[in-house]
Amino acid sequence: MKTKISRSVIPRLSVYYRALMLYKGGRLVSSQTLSELTGYTAAQIRRDLACFGQFGTPGRGYETEGLKNEILRILGIDKLWNVVLAGVGNLGTALLSYKGFKEQGFNITAAFDTDIKKVGRRIGGITIQNIKNLKRFIGKKKIKMAIVTVPAGAAQEIINLLVRAGIKAVLNFAPTRPNVPASVELINIDLSIELEKLAHFLGSKG
Ligand code: NAD
Repeated sequence: MKTKISRSVIPRLSVYYRALMLYKGGRLVSSQTLSELTGYTAAQIRRDLACFGQFGTPGRGYETEGLKNEILRILGIDKLWNVVLAGVGNLGTALLSYKGFKEQGFNITAAFDTDIKKVGRRIGGITIQNIKNLKRFIGKKKIKMAIVTVPAGAAQEIINLLVRAGIKAVLNFAPTRPNVPASVELINIDLSIELEKLAHFLGSKG
């Protein structure tokens, strides 16, 4: 059964899940303990978890394993997601080399680049393929998720190609705002915007 959860709750669920993974306190965990582990207030945590049904025993806490499994299910990471990556430069290479995604439920299963000098090289156990193979590969393997690490000028074109191939969710690192159809989820990660927030924070401190 699919549980409808507000979008603003999702990042907090990820934080609760990470805290529960590290929690060694036993069968039950209280909202107060989760608050100490995550920095969110106990009231916020109780509100977020209230929509999950009966994991809480008033005054005692939540069943640790049950809560963990429910969060996994709601986040959709109770299974391994296959992901393709487009653009194997500095950033693409770093992401391909990172072993942690698999533990979190994401398997980068193929990487594509337009640079034929890169095609055939192996990074993190993945052989870089010619971009020409992308559509067929995605269709055959029924992959729904993609990471885009191409230069800004190439992002819209590669995203169009991914969408035509059947991709439904894109994590885009290029510093642009590409367009996607309403049926496709696009998340733009612009590290410079995050750095600008920090610069503003430091600047406003005088
Ligand atoms: P890069 O130039 O090292 O690599 C880009 C790769 O994309 C190259 O291998 C290139 O051949 C490939 N490419 C170009 N057009 C393509 C296409 N149509 N299809 C598939 N592959 C294609 O760039 P980078 O430093 O890895 O950065 C990648 C993107 O991430 C850029 O948009 C950049 O602005 C952004 N970004 C990078 C960093 C970083 O730390 N490197 C940080 C934040 C954001």
